[in-house]
Amino acid sequence: MKPSFVSQATSALIDTAHQPRCTSDPSVRSLLCALMIVFSITGVSCIPASTTATGTTPTVVIAGETAIKTAADMNSTPRPTIEPFRFFLPTPGAEPISGWRPPLYPVPWAVSAYDHFYFARPIAADNVNWPLAEYRYGGVFFAPNIVHTGVDIDAEEDTPILAAGPGTVISADWGLYTEAPGNTADPYGQAVVLRHDFGYKGQTLYTVYAHMSKIASTLGQHVETGDVLGLIGSTGATTGPHLHFEVRLGSNTFYSTYNPELWMAPPQGWGVLVGRLTDEDGKLLNKSLVEVRPMPSEVPLRTYAEGAANSDPHYQENLVLSDLPAGLYKIVLNYKDKDLQFWVDIYPGQITYFTFTDENGFEVLPPPVPTLDFLPGTSTPISPP
Ligand SMILES: [Zn+2]
Repeated sequence: MKPSFVSQATSALIDTAHQPRCTSDPSVRSLLCALMIVFSITGVSCIPASTTATGTTPTVVIAGETAIKTAADMNSTPRPTIEPFRFFLPTPGAEPISGWRPPLYPVPWAVSAYDHFYFARPIAADNVNWPLAEYRYGGVFFAPNIVHTGVDIDAEEDTPILAAGPGTVISADWGLYTEAPGNTADPYGQAVVLRHDFGYKGQTLYTVYAHMSKIASTLGQHVETGDVLGLIGSTGATTGPHLHFEVRLGSNTFYSTYNPELWMAPPQGWGVLVGRLTDEDGKLLNKSLVEVRPMPSEVPLRTYAEGAANSDPHYQENLVLSDLPAGLYKIVLNYKDKDLQFWVDIYPGQITYFTFTDENGFEVLPPPVPTLDFLPGTSTPISPP
């Protein structure tokens, strides 16, 4: 039985079908990878995912006098009155509960030269296959300064875990974090690592699949996208069955992860919000509270914590929110004890990129213009090291 220390206030949000996630035993505390959450005293369950939901898409409505006047009307009305335009700002509505997602864009998916949605989801579409809102990349959940280096995807025990892209199994054992094969105290539990057949800008790409109940692939095996690597479990540092999924670029190490939400293809018609928020010194804001409305979860976002999380080489972001239905969204940033807000459009299959600086406030930058040598979905074949 998983411990539950969720307050009354948040208990209403609990969906018992979505019980997460990473925690750890005090004995492995010093070893913790970011995916694992340390609890020194009681062991605390992660605040569970609220149910997934698609946001409504508010639209700007311009209402006016639309009655058509005939010539006779006009003649009899020397001074026609025109209703002033009324401009209704969109109001975020209730967040519907839905687990539905459109099919994903085909991989590799890249609308701009800087996109790299190269991976399919590691969980099939008949299950929840998107990141838990409470356990996003760059978050710190319990222990001080233990940063989450992947995303957690909720699933029932023994749900198949699928290869997110073609590659070779280079690790399939306990002991990934501690680099001690067979170490059953390792916080990743039973985990598989793929070295992919393609890379990005000359660097090798890896994906990590942790907490398996059973490994169903073998060292050296070549797999294709969608092949089963293992089954969902709760081995290692976790409070419940889920997949911890990482994307690593350049080297297969804990410190070379990037946000998987920038690497997994979005659902068709949906987009991704990416932000870079900095303070008066131009430093990235750490753990700043950001709300996006409507959003698929009641859980507010936070910018990356300082630590093992890495920003994308191009965007240098500290905030990513994927799986947003295209439409208009309000973003609220709590900065220096004030709630600052602005609006952004999310476009199908694209990244909407914004910055916040102390000096200039919010700015939304247009999508980057592809360079002449850009081909959508270009990936660089890499020969295995
Ligand atoms: Zn995790």
